[in-house]
Amino acid sequence: MSSLSRRGFLRSTAAGALVAPAVPAFVRLQAPVAVSSANGIKAVELAVQRMSEGWRPVDAAVAGVELVENDPEDDSVGIGGLPNEDGIVELDACVMDGPSGLGGAVAALQNVKNPAQVALQVMRHTDHVLLVGEGALRFARAHGFKEENLLTEKSRQKWIEWREKRSAIDDWISPEENGEHGKEWFRKYKHKTGTIHLGAVAANGDVGSCTTTSGLAFKLAGRVGDSPLLGCGNYCDNDVGTGGGTGRGEACILANGGAFIVHQMALGKSPTDACMEAVKRVVRLTKVKRLLDAKGRPDFQIQFYATNKAGQFGAAALYADKFAVCDGNGARLADMASLYAEPVK
Ligand code: ASP
Repeated sequence: MSSLSRRGFLRSTAAGALVAPAVPAFVRLQAPVAVSSANGIKAVELAVQRMSEGWRPVDAAVAGVELVENDPEDDSVGIGGLPNEDGIVELDACVMDGPSGLGGAVAALQNVKNPAQVALQVMRHTDHVLLVGEGALRFARAHGFKEENLLTEKSRQKWIEWREKRSAIDDWISPEENGEHGKEWFRKYKHKTGTIHLGAVAANGDVGSCTTTSGLAFKLAGRVGDSPLLGCGNYCDNDVGTGGGTGRGEACILANGGAFIVHQMALGKSPTDACMEAVKRVVRLTKVKRLLDAKGRPDFQIQFYATNKAGQFGAAALYADKFAVCDGNGARLADMASLYAEPVK
């Protein structure tokens, strides 16, 4: 899975104690590497191309995810993202730059379709890490970002459908409920998830990463997920690698997914094993019954992604799933490791 000199990696791992870097300080990969959620196949390809042209990994990552943010057909990110319960699209994103150790983030940002770019500007133009809501919008405005309505007709219709079908004890009625199926038919309308995380490693071993999302569909207004929280939906350490997550954000926050993965790699775990440790941590921390299925397993999906400084990559999820990767062999989808063999229900 890697273009790294495996002997060099193992030697340095053995030499490393506790949280010392698990990979040598100076590495040269055959090609840059980018890993992302499965909706990012074009994003990883562009990120690798940009890094080959000499772009910094964090800038390459943001350029990659921007393709998805700008795609109105992807209803989990940027324009066309599914809105909150009030029908308003609120976006979350964060970026992290390995060489400088800096990060930037925005949360609950309205009307600007590229929150990852805004997060990059927060990192570059402020002494802060995270701006939220109205303050984030004013910051974006000041930096020349265009404001537009992010709710596409398709997403508006999905929101209305959810609104009508979510409950049997309100006054919203869907056409189907007025028909033969009655009210009970739609009582269980599950929250939909989706996001893009992208971790990038340049040929010189520098790393950068980004996560961007419209968050959990139909969330409460002001709800912030894991995606804009450094250490949760995204994290990187230039001595180690990148780690990030998608799926149920609340579980990723409570497990500190991104930072935990990077820490596991610093202790010597491979990217895939580090991601699987994070999955197991989520299982261990998920205790309340409402979040478990009949077999006692988490009743949601969570996916973790990692790269290390040496260009190795991996991903793991609770339930069977795919991720996107691009390296010297081009862009492709690959199977994640998973704790349970079947896809999520
Ligand atoms: N992690 C995102 C959030 O909770 C959603 C997702 O990845 O599907 O906001």
